[in-house]
Amino acid sequence: MANSGVGVIVNQINRVAIVGGTHGNEFTGAYLIQKFAQFPDLVARPSFETITLLANPNAFAVGRRYVEKDLNRCFLKQDLQDPTLSSYEELQAKSIQDTLASNRDKQADFILDLHSSTANMGLTIILVNSHPLNLKLAAYLSQINPLVRVYRCSFKSIEENPFVNSLCELGFAIEVGPIAQGLLKAELFQKTEELISTVLDYIEGFNQGKIPSFKETLILYDHLSVVGYPKGQNGKIFGMIHPELQDKDYQALNPGDPIFLAFDGKTIIYEGTSTVWPIFINEAAYYEKGIAMCFTQRQQINI
Ligand SMILES: [Zn+2]
Repeated sequence: MANSGVGVIVNQINRVAIVGGTHGNEFTGAYLIQKFAQFPDLVARPSFETITLLANPNAFAVGRRYVEKDLNRCFLKQDLQDPTLSSYEELQAKSIQDTLASNRDKQADFILDLHSSTANMGLTIILVNSHPLNLKLAAYLSQINPLVRVYRCSFKSIEENPFVNSLCELGFAIEVGPIAQGLLKAELFQKTEELISTVLDYIEGFNQGKIPSFKETLILYDHLSVVGYPKGQNGKIFGMIHPELQDKDYQALNPGDPIFLAFDGKTIIYEGTSTVWPIFINEAAYYEKGIAMCFTQRQQINI
């Protein structure tokens, strides 16, 4: 399958890659990969091959998001081609590209990248393009499971996408939460496993020309902006997520609604002019970047 342009017609998916532990402290995905390696029948389907990959084994071994650099920002095409980039994660990204994208006989046609979040993300599908098959699959998943949400971060071109999923036009990341870093919760683990199984069944049906029927509409949350914590002139944050906003991911935030609670006790309100739908509220991994949440725009599209 060609990697250029969105919407290349696909007739058959021959190889599905399930990637976990791209962030080493997101244990749900990392341990699912280990489970699938031990019980490969769980992810085997008759019409395609499934491969599993623990993406950042060194970070997983020490229970950290990354060792030197965020692996899920290392997949810009120009960086993958740059021989001077040699941190552990940059080399790991090149190795993953060799495995999943460059090897003509072995390359993945569909990539699922498993993540978890400390925010109340439910079962979020993160689309990085609008390929019709990705949209149809997302619509199907959100129709059969009310916990499924579909977040789309669009890039102007595939060259600007730094995520694992830039390696392949088909597929998406799955972001599950809320769950703390560095631990497992059986209920969320099982829900994630069920979602993966449903994706694999859908692909099996697609290969056999039998796609399950679904509503032709999809609720999408399109990325608008990232929102930083309030910071003083010393660069230090002086407020936290307002208690009324905590865990309210995917719920409407209207102008005038509380957004932060400053350490001096004052409430900071959302001063925008239109309703937004925040997600990744209070994601622990984003503190190092000073990011408090992302704003999205909710919309319904016809497929
Ligand atoms: Zn992650």
